[in-house]
Formats: sequence, C-alpha cells, structure tokens
Amino acid sequence: MSIETIPLFGLGTWRSEPNEVGNAVKEALKIGYNHIDCAHIYQNESEIGEAFKSSFNSGINRNDIWVTSKLWNDSHRPEHVKSALKHTLSNLKLDHLDLYLIHWPIAFKHGITFPSIKDEYELIENIPISETWQALEECVKEGLTRQLGVANFTINKLKPLIKNSEIKPTVNQVELHPYLAQNDLKDFADENGVILTAYSPLGAPHLERNVDMIKIMEDDIVVSIAKEKDLSPAQVLIAWAINRGTSVIPKSSNPGRLKQNLEASYIELSKTEMEQLNSLDKGLRYIDGTFFTTKSPYTTEYLWG
Ligand code: NAP
Repeated sequence: MSIETIPLFGLGTWRSEPNEVGNAVKEALKIGYNHIDCAHIYQNESEIGEAFKSSFNSGINRNDIWVTSKLWNDSHRPEHVKSALKHTLSNLKLDHLDLYLIHWPIAFKHGITFPSIKDEYELIENIPISETWQALEECVKEGLTRQLGVANFTINKLKPLIKNSEIKPTVNQVELHPYLAQNDLKDFADENGVILTAYSPLGAPHLERNVDMIKIMEDDIVVSIAKEKDLSPAQVLIAWAINRGTSVIPKSSNPGRLKQNLEASYIELSKTEMEQLNSLDKGLRYIDGTFFTTKSPYTTEYLWG
C-alpha cells in the first residue's frame, strides 16, 4: 500500500549540488525521511534516481516513500506533458510519481529552459492551464503519477482549476514562512481540501539578496524562541510550518542538518509561540518571480494576483 496523502515533512532538492544531492537523498531516506521533493529544472534528477535505486536495493520500500516532481514551464502544451513526465520518471528510475505539479503558472516555448527574450515565452492564453491539466489527468489514468497539484498558484488561479477539473489538485506548493504566511491562501486551501506545501521555509538563505533584506533565521523572535527551547532557528521555522498544518520541505545536503530538520518535525510549539511567530507576517517574498517578469509578457500582477 502506498502513502495516501503527502507526508507533512520532506526534503527539498533545489540547488542540491552534483555529487552532493545523491548522498543527501540516501542519508535522508536512511534516517527516516519519507518524502522527497524533486523537479526537472533542478537538473539533478538522474543523481537522485541513482540514490533511489541504491536505497530501494538496500531495504527501503518504494511504497513507503512519497516522491514529488514538477512539470517545467516549457512543457505546458498538452502534447509535451506526458513525455516530460516520462523523462522525469526515467531520470528518477521510478515507474510512477506520487505527485506531479505544474511548477509555475507561466509558459515558455518548448525547449527553452530560461528565456532571455520576450519571444521565448508563450502567452498563457495560448496554452491555458486547463489544457495542460487535462493532459496531466491522462497521466494519472495511465498510472504515471498518483496525484496532481500545482505550485506558485494564487487563489484566483486555483479557483477555476478546482471548479473545472475532473481530478482535483491535492497540493499547492508555495513560499511560506512567518514573514509570508499567506493566511488567505491557507484558509482557501483548507476550505477546498488542498494541502499547502511550504517551500523556502528557512527563507532560502542560499540566494543572493539585497543587503537590507532580513534573513528570517536571524529574526529576533525566531532566535529567542529557539534559545528558550534549545533549538536552532531552522527548527523553529520547520515546527511552525508543521504546527500550522502545512507540509514543509527544507533543503539540506548536510547530514547534521538533515537530522535536526527531521527532528524539528516532531516539535510542538505553544499557542503563545505560534502567536509570536504569526505576528511576523509582512508579505515578504524571497522568491518574488522577477526572473519571469523582466523581458517577459508576464507581470508581477499576473503572477501574484
Ligand atoms: P530552504 O529550505 O528555505 O533553505 C535551504 C538552505 O538552508 C540551504 O542553503 C541549506 O544549506 C540551509 N539549511 C538547511 N537546514 C538548515 C539548518 N538546520 N540550519 C541552517 N541552515 C540550514 O530553501 P529552498 O531550497 O529554496 O526551499 C526548499 C525546497 O523547496 C527546495 O529545495 C525545493 O525542493 C522547493 N522549492 C520549490 C519552489 C517552487 O517554485 N515550487 C521554489 C523554491 C523551492 P545546507 O544544504 O548546507 O544545509
């Protein structure tokens, strides 16, 4: 029997480097992770596939592990969806995924990894999400993925998808941490049976950013709760996500941090601690999508509106 709903705690693999990501996945599975978040665009699925193969050959049961991957923006056309998913399956050395997400509500011309000019984009009007979704539904029927979902979708984009689809999205993966709580989206997701997965839950400290952009792991409240409970700031942030009822996928390729992040998924925060963390919300996006809105037909208003 496979896992029916997405495990709340999992491992992120974006920017998990070559010659590191495989070991990180093997170590994570060995110490008890049961959810791995992948994506074609992370360009490391082949190495993760080798790690799966070796872990499944040494006693870990595929059916006990939840694997998510994501359709890249250049494969939204219905005729490209199944081959993109099959390519990911071949890289990951799996016969099915547990969850396949539309990575962004933005489309590129086929074969374009990252557009550098406006012409390399496709207008979403020309490839509506509903058509991509129907092709994804076919993939479920063929057993290539068990569930479908989206990422970076707002309420306005989720509404028509939920209303018009035969197979409903089970997950919306979005940036979530106390600086970007997205409470309206969380309420909407709860009301509609969609689970939110929190990406960049530690504030994506690997990104280059403006000097005046505060790092959430250095926030006074986060740090003081961590000190009081003898935890790390990262653990407080992971516990906040789980205590709030979202799934969460911090990335690490360091064995010590893999372990402490997993341990954080069992930590209970008090009502007062949750309230203190909830008070930090200020709508701060570390991943604001500007890489898709410069020299592009897409605007920030379209993306987050
Ligand atoms: P993140 O999980 O917020 O942060 C990862 C960074 O934090 C890494 O540099 C990691 O370094 C460090 N770290 C991990 N555990 C730590 C700890 N206990 N203490 C201190 N530092 C720690 O950022 P993210 O990778 O952006 O987000 C997580 C995952 O979400 C991604 O990997 C990806 O799977 C997914 N994601 C999805 C989307 C989307 O569009 N759907 C966008 C962004 C991310 P070490 O490896 O050295 O530990």
